[in-house]
Amino acid sequence: MEVQPECILVTGGAGFIGSAVIRYLLNNTGAVVINLDKLTYAANPAALQEFASHLRYRFVRACITDREALRSVFASHCPGAVMHLAAETHVDRSIDEPMNFVSTNVIGTAILLETVRAYLSSTSRRKKQDFRFHHISTDEVFGSLDEGGGERFSETTSYAPRSPYAASKAGSDHLVRAWRETYGLPVVLSNCCNNYGPWQFPEKLIPLMTIKALKGETLPVYGRGGQIRDWIHVDDHAAALHTILTRGELGESYNVGADCERRNLEVVQSICDLVDDEAPLEDGSCRRELITFVADRPGHDLRYAIDASKIRTQLGWQPRESFASGLAKTVKWYMEHADWWQRASDSYGGDRLGLGGLTEVVAS
Ligand code: NAD
Repeated sequence: MEVQPECILVTGGAGFIGSAVIRYLLNNTGAVVINLDKLTYAANPAALQEFASHLRYRFVRACITDREALRSVFASHCPGAVMHLAAETHVDRSIDEPMNFVSTNVIGTAILLETVRAYLSSTSRRKKQDFRFHHISTDEVFGSLDEGGGERFSETTSYAPRSPYAASKAGSDHLVRAWRETYGLPVVLSNCCNNYGPWQFPEKLIPLMTIKALKGETLPVYGRGGQIRDWIHVDDHAAALHTILTRGELGESYNVGADCERRNLEVVQSICDLVDDEAPLEDGSCRRELITFVADRPGHDLRYAIDASKIRTQLGWQPRESFASGLAKTVKWYMEHADWWQRASDSYGGDRLGLGGLTEVVAS
């Protein structure tokens, strides 16, 4: 059954993917969109500046572990759907500070589920029937694949998370399924591969390497850069999420990916070449010469690869952007938005990002 919620609550809507989702919803649907976000260091309020006075857009600054704030948002806006993206998301930070990940990703999700359960228990049968709770998750819950095998993650792959980030997201997925089985909550889930595109916080691989390449700084790559990631443009993910929210089967999960596996080293080399084309170095050298290999991250997963045939065949979604054109557009975007990423990295502390000279790196 297809639903078209009139009001959608997006958690984490000021983040990289959340802001792309809100842009998609405001541009492609008639829904009122409530963005509930704590505005952590990873938030990009600038990404939604164009909608600040949009008649169908509201922003609420709140933490998903704050029961009273959640209750009040549901009571005043009566959403017909939740798209739950709020999370701590950076693997390296999860190794340094795992408890923040447990708090937001596990406990925050449980509190949100309980809030939805209480809200639905006092709402009309009609509203309850059409309501959707869409939990947005990652392929990292499935662990790591062999390098050479053709195996890919499907919806039935067993969970085997290996970092505190992946384990906290796996925990949240299990909670969502349990609330479906135990309380009948109307949920759908999705697990997506690595996203790239505009407005991604400059601690993640593609923006970090683009910015360092632009500055002519060394490009530190974990290990020998042999890890394989599967990439999707964030706007393709946003469209997939809307498809799953409105057409997905209750209780089902959908893997989202664009059949685009690349080694980290290949990605960094492509970024070097794109930046060289747009802004050649004065001494005529190539930016590939800036690549240096640094000690690998503990428990670094070797390969992720998504089998997205279920969403393609059952829901008719497919990605539009190829990696070559998407990466070229993204690199160009970072070149044209230096003021934004400079402010974002300054507010976080440029040194922490390696943008002030320190070498710390490459995440999913
Ligand atoms: P992000 O780090 O860019 O943004 C996360 C947002 O959540 C930020 O705006 C932050 O302020 C907000 N937030 C964090 N803790 C919060 C809290 N306690 N209460 C309210 N808001 C809070 O993350 P992203 O890359 O946009 O990822 C969004 C979601 O998609 C996450 O759930 C992530 O696990 C999932 N995902 C990401 C990727 C990827 O490649 N980035 C891939 C698959 C799935």
